[in-house]
Amino acid sequence: MASGHRSILIAGAGATGLAAALELARRGFLARIVDSDAGPVPLTESRALGINARTLTLLSPSRVTDTILQEAQRIAHFRIVSKGRLLADIDTTRVPGPYSAIHALAQGHTERLLLGKLSDYEVAPEWQTAVETVSGDLSKPRVTLRKADGSVEAADFDIVVAADGAHSAVRRAVGIGFPGQALESSFYLADFRYAVPIDPGFAEISLFDPGMIGRLPVTRDVLRYISTLPDFESRIQHPAPVAERVWASDFRIHFRHVAMMARGNVFLAGDAAHIHSPAGARGMNLGIEDACWLAWLISEGREREYAGLRMPAVKTVLKQTHQLTSLITMKHPVAIAIRNLAVPLLLRIPAFRQKLLHGVSGYDTQSPPWIDGAL
Ligand SMILES: Cc1cc2nc3c(=O)[nH]c(=O)nc-3n(C[C@H](O)[C@H](O)[C@H](O)COP(=O)(O)OP(=O)(O)OC[C@H]3O[C@@H](n4cnc5c(N)ncnc54)[C@H](O)[C@@H]3O)c2cc1C
Repeated sequence: MASGHRSILIAGAGATGLAAALELARRGFLARIVDSDAGPVPLTESRALGINARTLTLLSPSRVTDTILQEAQRIAHFRIVSKGRLLADIDTTRVPGPYSAIHALAQGHTERLLLGKLSDYEVAPEWQTAVETVSGDLSKPRVTLRKADGSVEAADFDIVVAADGAHSAVRRAVGIGFPGQALESSFYLADFRYAVPIDPGFAEISLFDPGMIGRLPVTRDVLRYISTLPDFESRIQHPAPVAERVWASDFRIHFRHVAMMARGNVFLAGDAAHIHSPAGARGMNLGIEDACWLAWLISEGREREYAGLRMPAVKTVLKQTHQLTSLITMKHPVAIAIRNLAVPLLLRIPAFRQKLLHGVSGYDTQSPPWIDGAL
């Protein structure tokens, strides 16, 4: 079927929208992609860091994986520490397949790698172009776009991909709800650059009574600390002299997902369809996975199957991140004591450790049938 001639609009040029555009382009479907911002997220203000093995598999046909592997830090160990005592040290390289479970690369960097590859197909986002409304018969949605100069364009598309993030204007316009809950407590993060290179090869979580501080590599001389404790910066044990605090932020965690990931020919992907805690580093990875599945289904003329195929993956990831978040946000002293005893014991059981690593790798969702030998 000559579906390559269908007109496709992608709303949002974050990781999800860019992955959708790239996966479509390499199959000959040149989509229009618009974003309300002026460019990709700044390199120093990256929310997502973790890139899992499933994403590396999905981005291998476009060869973006090759460049990610050159630029990213491989996280070879994941440590859990409580009161200076090492509770567990998990070797994250011991997973099946060609990639270790997780690498770290700032989201802004990943987006620029996707943009670079997309330019090979002469596709570029139209920045400062916002989707304002989606209306009409959703089998041929009418989209209104507002541009930087204030002008408005209305156009009809065969397919609209909503990759416009958690506050998705497209989702609202087509009347899809975003039910779920917000956690009461806030999370805090700070990125520090050190005067000398540090060991970027491991991630660590330090448990307190209550609260936690996670330590993740960003580059060879930048570490991210993420915490449930407002005063966490005073508790950080820096591995080297600090050169500068690069970025700090705080955020509330929501667990939400749409009931249906499509309405007519409008398809929701990434944060527009689901949001959850960063525990497990799944959000951007899941969005890229949505994008790759949707692009494949569109190229096969089977996009009607998208919503049904993706919802189990969304529910799996929300459940996993909810469980991990409950573990790290415990407040009751008895529950904390039990957790600190149980976690090291459980992690000594090979089947339990493998299940955890399977999830961190992103292998707990359906494997992509279009990639030979994919896990
Ligand atoms: C602290 C933190 C840490 C995280 N760590 C990880 C991690 O390690 N690994 C991981 O996988 N995920 C992580 N995440 C989650 C990850 O950041 C998100 O899941 C990811 O950014 C979602 O990508 P997206 O492209 O779907 O949405 P977004 O990144 O939000 O992109 C949406 C795009 O749409 C554009 N847009 C918005 N409205 C419009 C409009 N009306 N018209 C046109 N364009 C519009 C925006 O400008 C934006 O560019 C983390 C999140 C947080 C908060």
